[in-house]
Amino acid sequence: MTAVAPDTTHHTALHQRVRDFISADRPMLIGGEWVSSASGRTFETIDPATARPITSVAHGDATDIDRAVRAARQAFDDGPWTRMKPNERERLLWRVGDILTERAEEFGQLEALDNGKAATIAAAVDTQWSADIFRYNAGLATKITGSTVDVSMPFVPGGEFHAYTLREPVGVCGLIVPWNFPLLMASFKLAPALAAGNTVILKPAEQTPLTALLLGEVFHEAGFPPGVVNIVTGYGEAGAALAAHDDVDKIAFTGSTEVGKKIVDAAKGNLKKVSLELGGKSPNIVFADADFEKAVAGSVAAWMFNHGQCCVAGTRLFVERPIFDDFTAAVAEAASQAKIGPGLDPSTELGPLVSQEQFDRVSGYLSAGLADGARALTGGKRWGDEGFFIEPTVFVDVEPSFSIVQEEIFGPVVAAMPFDADTGVAAAANDSIYGLAAGIWTTDLSKAHRTARQIKAGSVWVNQYNGFDTAMPFGGYKQSGWGRELGSSAIELYTQTKAVNISL
Ligand code: NAP
Ligand code: MG
Repeated sequence: MTAVAPDTTHHTALHQRVRDFISADRPMLIGGEWVSSASGRTFETIDPATARPITSVAHGDATDIDRAVRAARQAFDDGPWTRMKPNERERLLWRVGDILTERAEEFGQLEALDNGKAATIAAAVDTQWSADIFRYNAGLATKITGSTVDVSMPFVPGGEFHAYTLREPVGVCGLIVPWNFPLLMASFKLAPALAAGNTVILKPAEQTPLTALLLGEVFHEAGFPPGVVNIVTGYGEAGAALAAHDDVDKIAFTGSTEVGKKIVDAAKGNLKKVSLELGGKSPNIVFADADFEKAVAGSVAAWMFNHGQCCVAGTRLFVERPIFDDFTAAVAEAASQAKIGPGLDPSTELGPLVSQEQFDRVSGYLSAGLADGARALTGGKRWGDEGFFIEPTVFVDVEPSFSIVQEEIFGPVVAAMPFDADTGVAAAANDSIYGLAAGIWTTDLSKAHRTARQIKAGSVWVNQYNGFDTAMPFGGYKQSGWGRELGSSAIELYTQTKAVNISL
């Protein structure tokens, strides 16, 4: 394994367990064993606040994916897992939730180090919400039911029947997650997949493999049988091998729409089930009658939370014309006040982007916006001279055709556009290939409900943004995806229905 010289300049406040965790190269989890990649290769994971390595992880490829799939298949077909009662799965999942809660600070720090987000947020939001999702799905494990059906069977006159449906796990599930909410996106998928009795192979993003590996330790500690949860770290090729594998029954993917389409292609071979949470370019709509202060604060959070690296980010800000200038000025002022710094600094509000690649990508959009003729009310360039920091940027004077209006930027950048009451806003808001989320700010109840119906998006939040809840289904219209995660509907993604009809 490659020796790295981790940068420790801002590691002094790290939890001892986090320091221990990053002090050695991290293997991956296959069949209950912590193993190196078959090739023996490793890759470095980078601290985006300094652009220096944190530690190295196993570089899994198609061979390792195949090993993991075989372990998951064996655990599904022969292991104790599929013979366990639902209440035993419930207890195991609940235990994962409790361990996450107990170790939230540790998970938060490791996530901050690997991803760049604020450690306090990573502990309070990413980790505690993940814990909540495990507990919610623990509860669902004992509530997965089929139904009895009173069949007519007209071609069998006089027959008597007992017909019912069973809801069964799909089997071996491949879970591919991105780097923006590494632990949380893994939890969105792991918790319902396991509640329903599947076995899984998790492929974290190459930029942020560490909390997935720490979570692997939690599954072990909670008492999951070997092979039920396998974790293979690696690059896109490992994800591609998982999506194409003939013995994988289902792929659940969160990431870019571009890769989502590749997943669909790769899944064709054995027609495995596919669910997708993809990109977005969400409209955030502010009517002139909105509570101004509340709408400003909420609209800033809508595009700046997680440094804009949110699939639901409200990056198209539509403001009713009479308040447009005042509102965008207030948004720019609030954004410019954000305290920028490394995620491990407790006062940080805006951390670095996750990688050099994302930094270059977002910088490219800033240049494109300015070249197209947009005006930056604030921001528009890099912050500092180290790490992958970008100033929060508010663009006005934009046209719907600009790339900064059409394309997912995944950085702290918003494009603001005025609209008029008489022409309405729905057509402009729906002018996107995406349909993930939307925000609406108004004090008029009828307007709120009417607009919520007009918007083509999987989630609509009124007088708030990021109004997520574990019990609410989440997913996309249009090219934002297939299927709904969270809520009880997540179980549908990881079960299939069997119809049994018995002639008495
Ligand atoms: P991405 O390529 O879609 O990555 C998501 C996951 O898919 C990662 O685990 C990735 O592995 C894996 N992957 C890559 N190529 C694959 C393939 N051919 N088959 C199967 N899995 C594959 O996203 P990204 O490149 O990190 O980010 C690019 C853009 O995607 C962002 O700028 C943003 O616009 C969008 N994005 C959206 C979301 C979202 O939540 N909707 C999340 C992240 C990114 P590697 O990490 O090893 O490549
Ligand atoms: Mg990638």
